[in-house]
Amino acid sequence: MGLICQSLLSFAFCEPTLKKNFEKERERMISSQLVARGIKDVKVLGAMKKIHRHVFVPENMLSHAYSDEPLPIGEGQTISQPYIVAYMTEVLALLGEDRVLEIGTGSGYQTAILAEIAKQVFTVELVGALSHRAQETLKKLKYTNIIYKIGDGTFGWDKRAPFDAIMVTAAPDKIPHSLEEQLKIGGRMIIPVGSAFQELVLVTRGKKKFKRKKLLPVRFVPLVTTH
Ligand code: SAH
Repeated sequence: MGLICQSLLSFAFCEPTLKKNFEKERERMISSQLVARGIKDVKVLGAMKKIHRHVFVPENMLSHAYSDEPLPIGEGQTISQPYIVAYMTEVLALLGEDRVLEIGTGSGYQTAILAEIAKQVFTVELVGALSHRAQETLKKLKYTNIIYKIGDGTFGWDKRAPFDAIMVTAAPDKIPHSLEEQLKIGGRMIIPVGSAFQELVLVTRGKKKFKRKKLLPVRFVPLVTTH
């Protein structure tokens, strides 16, 4: 923990800056929550190590920033569990030249992980206050490859389509076909689907049809559709 001193002559005015780096907590998160559960992609592990999850969580949640759980970020929304962030990123099999659409910017944590690996990230958030906060955090981190939109992302981002990959971080009852249609041939989408019971589904767009594969049970906030 660093110190800010108002006078070099006295320690009496020294205050902790609270700039704790959480290096050890991050290392532990990588080994016990990610590697131990099978995350292997070095690009994903590198991004999870580089990005400080604690700058995306509210101050009263700081001590839980690297816990194995989702956390509240305000407006009734949550930042996903680190394992789920890593898992969803890994299954998109990003190569570095990808244009990625993210639906549900939330805290911006997942956005940062994607921006580390992909060429460009287009991210849509319904709640203005959350998008503005995420934009502030991500601009401080100097990302120049993220494009933001405030609005309902249920139907994707037509003007920016097609995408190499799409990640949806809120759950619809069924997969919106308009999102599938915004994938390139060979493109992948990872999306939680369902209400009381939800599953992550990986959609791959082939030349003639879409392949949909159920991966694992999850719990996400609902995708709110406004029209
Ligand atoms: N990826 C985020 C998780 C946020 S939770 C993170 O790492 O923090 C899901 C987010 O989806 C919430 O912020 C919620 O407001 C947003 N959301 C819900 N319905 C939406 C919609 N139709 N369009 C865009 N965003 C939506």
